[in-house]
Formats: sequence, structure tokens, C-alpha cells
Amino acid sequence: MEKYFDVIVIGAGPAGYVAAIRCAQLGMRTACVDDWLDQQGKPTLGGTCLNAGCIPSKALLESSEYYIDLLDSSVHPGISIKGIALDLNQVQSEKNRVVSELTGGINSLFKANKITSLAGRAQLLADRQVIITLKNSKTSKKLSASNIIIATGSRPIDIPAAKMDGVLIVDSQSALNFDQAPERLGIIGAGVIGLEMGSIWRRFGSKVTILEAQDNFLPATDRDIAALAQAAYKAQGLDIKFGACVTASEVHDKSVTVSFTEAGKSHALEVDKLIVAVGRRPYTEGLAPAETGLLIDEGGFIHVNEHLMTNLPNVYAVGDIVPGPMLAHKGSAEGVAVAEHIAGNIGHVNYSTIPSIIYTEPEIAWTGQTEDSLKKAGINTRSGSFPFTASGRARAMRKTSGMVKIITEEKNDEILGVHIIGAHASELIAEAVLAMEYRATAEDLALTIHGHPTLSEAVHEAALAVNGEAIHIVNKKG
Ligand code: NAD
Repeated sequence: MEKYFDVIVIGAGPAGYVAAIRCAQLGMRTACVDDWLDQQGKPTLGGTCLNAGCIPSKALLESSEYYIDLLDSSVHPGISIKGIALDLNQVQSEKNRVVSELTGGINSLFKANKITSLAGRAQLLADRQVIITLKNSKTSKKLSASNIIIATGSRPIDIPAAKMDGVLIVDSQSALNFDQAPERLGIIGAGVIGLEMGSIWRRFGSKVTILEAQDNFLPATDRDIAALAQAAYKAQGLDIKFGACVTASEVHDKSVTVSFTEAGKSHALEVDKLIVAVGRRPYTEGLAPAETGLLIDEGGFIHVNEHLMTNLPNVYAVGDIVPGPMLAHKGSAEGVAVAEHIAGNIGHVNYSTIPSIIYTEPEIAWTGQTEDSLKKAGINTRSGSFPFTASGRARAMRKTSGMVKIITEEKNDEILGVHIIGAHASELIAEAVLAMEYRATAEDLALTIHGHPTLSEAVHEAALAVNGEAIHIVNKKG
């Protein structure tokens, strides 16, 4: 046995590294173990989000959107640019630079907070001992701590009908590293990843076909917003086939034939690359031998109580490995809550206001409940909407595709859900999250002065519209 820590965090993604930093800030002697290697084979921090998810995908979404905006002179009439060229290698290097700067930033934060960073694969043993097998070596070391926080994240789900080979049939991580836009790109799954990947590669020139098993598009989102999104994606050239069940795929030298059924008929689609984006599963393989008795739920998630404690004393779990939305910011909030709990403070996560965001064009963001879920729960509601076409700022930006919808409890006016589609929806949603955190009413938002001209005025006007008082649209009667 080598060292003793107050806390060992297993996993340095947004749940784990944030937990480690907060533990250290609270005065705990903290270690964080992670086995992720970067593209050069060097240990790196940040997990999926920084290395193969949120950050690289946003870097490519930004570059690709900028590229197509430049190509389309109708975006900003009067401005034309000649000689626009795409150098995808440079775009990819820039994306990799962003990733390495941010992962390096976590390294610096770990050093500044005196966190012991260990590169290797950790396995949980009895009595809060952890054995760490160092990468590329047979040596291992055993550490022990008063508390363990498991934050091992999730992995893409594989389906038998499209086994990933890492070359032609790939997951979202490999799809972020294509060195050229595939001429014909197939994607299985029209969820968040499918839509974001489809958007990137469509903009860089691929013909994109998305095969979605369900008939219902983006089932967790507001129905009006899902309909607007579907129309926008279609106009951009994303061919989404609903009710499409993939039955098999055949890999050839340079292409893949995907067989699927749609409305009872069999079809075949020939593509140059196929991305499988059918969801993610908690990553617990090899984490804890059966003798530890760590309880795992049916869905593969680690079983935790309301304090995110597992069934083992002083062993916690946070992030994608426990039930709830698989979102970086949910994991980070859980990481902080657990650190506070260990320190004897009240650690709390308000699960009812976690924002969800899809970074397509237009962006989609929402928090709280939908009209459908409130109806199912028997809660009577009112709602107010405001279209971006009536926003002065959206018009000046030529980004008029979008709307804000605010749903409130019918009698007491409390905001129960906010749904936004349009430019900068990912930023606009923060105001709604804050309002709901304070259990604000639509009237509270309506009485809040918003700067002019800003997109946030659309949120203000939607709040006014709940009670029929919007200024820049004609209010619904009744
Ligand atoms: P998802 O659950 O969002 O979507 C998967 C889609 O695949 C669903 O629509 C499902 O009906 C479909 N599907 C499943 N099996 C299928 C099959 N055999 N054939 C055709 N379609 C099938 O999952 P995802 O897009 O892979 O994302 C995984 C997780 O990562 C999610 O929890 C997501 O929230 C998270 N994520 C979030 C962001 C973000 O916040 N912007 C970005 C990427 C990923």
C-alpha cells in the first residue's frame, strides 16, 4: 500500500474532474485516476466531453457553420467573398488544438489545487482500496482512501446489425476525426449525436441519410419545436427516414450496404461511412469485481441513493454512470454535490431544471417540462410563444428561424418549462434555468427589463404572451 487519500476520484471527465477540484478546494487530499490517451497516445484529462464529445463536436460545428455561411451570399446581402476554400486537415488540427488547450487547462487546475493525477486504469476493491494499472506497463499500485467517487462515464452502444469496425462503421468519436467528408454518409439514430454529426458532415459536403427507428422525432422536446426543427433539417438537406429499422450491414472494400425496413418494405442504402449513434451506456466494465458487492441496476447504471452514495460505505457515483440525462453539466453538478456532502455540507442537484441543448442550426434548448408531460401528469397549463421573425435583433442578424415557448401552471403562473429553437438558444436558456431555479412566474420574467435589441427579448415577450400581454405580436385571445 502506498498512499492514503481523503478522496480518490475514478474518471476525469466533467463529473470526475469537477468533483476532484471541489474536493481539493474543500481541503481534502485528493487523487484522480483516468486511463484516457490522446491521439498521440499520451494520458489526458477531460474524458469524453473534452476529448471526443462536447468540445471537438462544437469546434467542428462552429467551423462548418462558418464555412456554409461564407458560401451562401444570401446570408449577408452586399457582402461577397471570392476564393472560399475548405482545408479539412487544418480545420481538424484547429479542433485538436482547442481540445489540447482545454485538457491542458484541467492539468493546470489539478496542479494548482494539488490534486494527484494518476494515468491508468482503476479497479475498486473492498474497503475503499483502488488498484491502478498503469498504461502500457504491467505494474500496478494500490491506493486507499476514506471516500471514493466513481465517475467512469459512458460508452457508445453497439448494435448487432451494424457492428463497428472503426473504419467504415464508426462511433461518434471516430466520426469527429474523418480526414475528408464522406461522399455518402449514413447515420443510425436521429438523436442528439446523429443530428450534430449529420449537420457537421452535411455542411462539409456529404450527402447525409439518417435512419431513425422511431416515428416520433426528438420525443423529449416540445412538439411545435420538433416540427420546426424537422423542417429546418430537411431544408438543409438532411434526409431523415423515420420508422427505419436497420436489419443488417455489409462491409465492402470502401463502402457499406445498410439494409433496413421502412413501412414494412425492405431497402438497401449504400454509404461510404456509417455512424452508429443509437445512444450510450454506462461504462462499468472491469470497474469492480463481483466480490465488492457494488450494486448495479438493470440498465447497467450504478445504484445510488439521493446523496449519490452507492450501496458500499463512502463510495459515491456521479455522471453518466448513474441514472439521469447523460449530460456533462448534470455530471459536474453531481460532482460538486458529492464533494460538498463528503465535507459535511448540503450537496444538492436540482434535477428539474437541467437544460438540454442540441447544437444544430437552429439550436434547440429547453428546460423543465413539455406540455405533453404536464398534461400526462394532470397539471393544467398556460403558454406563451414568441417567434424570432418578430425580434428586431434576429432580423438584423438574418437569423429569423426560431421561437420561444414558455409554459406555466395555469393558476399560479409558475414557469414549468421553457423551450427555445433559434440562434443562440444554448445561451438564451440560461435565463430560463435561473428563473426556474428561483421558481419565478411568467410575470417575474415579464417585469424584468431586457436589453434592446437582443435575442433575449424573445424570452421576455414569450413571458408577456403567457398572460396575453406581448407587445410585438398580436396576442392570442382568451
Ligand atoms: P439519443 O438517445 O439521443 O438518440 C439515439 C437515437 O437512436 C434515438 O432517437 C433512437 O430512437 C435511435 N435508435 C436507437 N436504436 C436504433 C436503431 N437500431 N436503428 C435506428 N435508430 C435507432 O442518443 P445519442 O444521440 O447517441 O446520444 C447519447 C447521449 O449523449 C444522450 O444521452 C445525449 O443526451 C448525450 N449527448 C448530448 C449532447 C448535447 O448535450 N448536445 C451531444 C451529444 C450527446
